[in-house]
Amino acid sequence: MARQVYIDGEFLPEEDAKISIFDHGFLYGDGVFEGIRSYEGLVFCLDEHIDRLYKSARAIALEVPIPRDEFADVIVETLRRNSLLSGYVRPIVTRGCGDLGLDPRKCPKPSVIVAADKLTLYPEEFYRDGLEVTFVSTRRNIPDALPPQVKSLNYLNNILGRLEVNRMGVGEGIMLNALGFIAEATADNVFIVKEGVLKTPTTSSGALPGITRSCVLELAREEGIPVEETELTPYDLYAADECFLTGTGAEVVPVRAVEGRPVGTGRPGPMTRKLIEKFRNLTKSRGRRYEL
Ligand code: PMP
Repeated sequence: MARQVYIDGEFLPEEDAKISIFDHGFLYGDGVFEGIRSYEGLVFCLDEHIDRLYKSARAIALEVPIPRDEFADVIVETLRRNSLLSGYVRPIVTRGCGDLGLDPRKCPKPSVIVAADKLTLYPEEFYRDGLEVTFVSTRRNIPDALPPQVKSLNYLNNILGRLEVNRMGVGEGIMLNALGFIAEATADNVFIVKEGVLKTPTTSSGALPGITRSCVLELAREEGIPVEETELTPYDLYAADECFLTGTGAEVVPVRAVEGRPVGTGRPGPMTRKLIEKFRNLTKSRGRRYEL
């Protein structure tokens, strides 16, 4: 069955779902998006994703042409029309059609697109044994150039990082900011555990405020684990007792080695395992329920 895509008010089969070459989302990456997951009929953290989407749009002076409630309904309906009880859904808002110049004033109407598909998961052994990461040489965009809070369609910075990861043949890559502090992974946030304290880079270090990241911070606080949003250096990762990555697709995934050095014992540690379990429980309860 052809996938059904929502574009500006209608659902179309994917072969008819087209956007213009003159859309500035295509021409310049001028737009914002979200990546949302549904688990057995529960759109996980739907409100939180809608919130980040509208904030990203506001930060780039892009007015989302439909109200939040309607957007949330469209996201759920896109999953339904694709018969997906568990899947991945991608809302996108672009600046819309303009001319070939980059002036957003030439784009009178933003475009809203929502696509959904089955999810490709990390292999199960990553969760059991952990994955290996490398530091990539591509630095994260400086916040003065592009605020890291904005989940924009402009992912070239991360893609350059990903090319390095692929060349190294490891699972993910850690990006540093211009000052040499850890920002995040190419598509995930980074956490370490040191002497019982859970630490993650601040958003001002260049981290996207991940929805999974904030769930994990909340779950840790609930457990009484001390948490710190702070600046972290590569040394902190080398010397960490545990390390894991978080993201919508990845969930909570342990890191077993960085640059060939084992992290802690080289096996997923107790705090990582605890948080994986607690996060998996949360995916059964937080969000909006729907039926096909
Ligand atoms: N950082 C980047 C660059 C991302 O693209 C993502 C989303 N895949 C994340 C972090 C994790 O964010 P979330 O938990 O909201 O998926």
